[in-house]
Amino acid sequence: MPWYKRLRWRLVGSQFLVALVGVSIMMLATRIIIINSAPVVLRPLLEALLQNPGNLLQTEADLIIAFRNAVLFSVLFAAVGAVVAGAFSSALLWGTIINPLRQVADSSQRIADGRFDERVTVPESSGVAMAQLVTSFNQMTATLEQIEQQRVALLGNIAHELRTPLTGLKGYLEGLMDGLFPANEETFAWMTQEVDRLGRLVDDIQHLSRIESGQFKLDFQPVDVVQLVQRVTAQLYVQAQSKQIDLQGPSVPQPILALADADRAAQVLINLVGNAIRYTPQAGHVWLTVQENGRFVEISVQDDGVGIPPDAMPYIFERFYRVDQSRSRTSGGSGIGLTISRHLVWAMGGELTAVSDGLDQGSCFTFTLPLV
Ligand code: ADP
Repeated sequence: MPWYKRLRWRLVGSQFLVALVGVSIMMLATRIIIINSAPVVLRPLLEALLQNPGNLLQTEADLIIAFRNAVLFSVLFAAVGAVVAGAFSSALLWGTIINPLRQVADSSQRIADGRFDERVTVPESSGVAMAQLVTSFNQMTATLEQIEQQRVALLGNIAHELRTPLTGLKGYLEGLMDGLFPANEETFAWMTQEVDRLGRLVDDIQHLSRIESGQFKLDFQPVDVVQLVQRVTAQLYVQAQSKQIDLQGPSVPQPILALADADRAAQVLINLVGNAIRYTPQAGHVWLTVQENGRFVEISVQDDGVGIPPDAMPYIFERFYRVDQSRSRTSGGSGIGLTISRHLVWAMGGELTAVSDGLDQGSCFTFTLPLV
């Protein structure tokens, strides 16, 4: 039974207890008073009436007084009994409902003040209903605490990521001012590279925040995935060639239509192929495949590059996570490309997954899109 139903029955039960005690005491008191008052009150009145029948009116008045007293006393006893029962059930409710609720209210206030490590504990005697309520409350607080920790970590990560290109730029500027670097094309090209890196990072962060807060629109249309993959392969061909990487597109003769946002799907693919080229050494191989699987089309980007160690695998889709910090940074990676890609694929109704047999064993990233 859900906790709120138990609570409702507990409240109904306590009201019922008070009423039951009151009625029982009233019945008992009436019975006792009538039995006890018969020889003391009724009999003398009746005997007096028998001896003097003309006293009927007086006897009637005395009887009414006796009856009224009997009722008054039973009501009084019942009221006292009901008050005692009420006090007893209130004490029970205080321990099992009101006290835990007060603790939850106090903790909510402390959480509102920013103390996310707050937890409520209630004694076992509070019952299952309160235990369930408090467990849910503590789970909510734990989630809030986790979100807060992620927020703090994210701020730290952003600051750290921004500092790297800024430090580079500052170094060049100081070098220029001190005359260590000549004010020539090469120096300005290096500086422009750092500014570009900064711009890319800011764009990615803004993009990610829009995606995570759901502030972006998708333009769903039937998209020929085979054509899309071939187009992206051609687009990144020159980049692959600069590392003598053999980049091969899919060899699927007929179109495969998926319901997706063409630009976003291309963005995901460019990110995956870009990563494959980035994390594959000179003269390596990157190949793309497209195939139907049930209600989905699967697009895979496979490479024979540096691979991903098993212990890093669970984290590669997390913001700013990089397996090899230095390699990713020097190659211009911001560490949020996969996070953005996964969110985009989710938004289009698919999944993005990765497999790798470990370091230097290559990797395979696959994402799915629903077929039209
Ligand atoms: P980055 O901009 O650093 O590439 P991503 O979010 O795209 O950020 O990728 C996160 C991390 O996942 C990368 O830093 C890299 O360590 C790892 N990774 C991504 N793609 C590959 C790949 N094809 N081969 C090996 N490692 C990869």
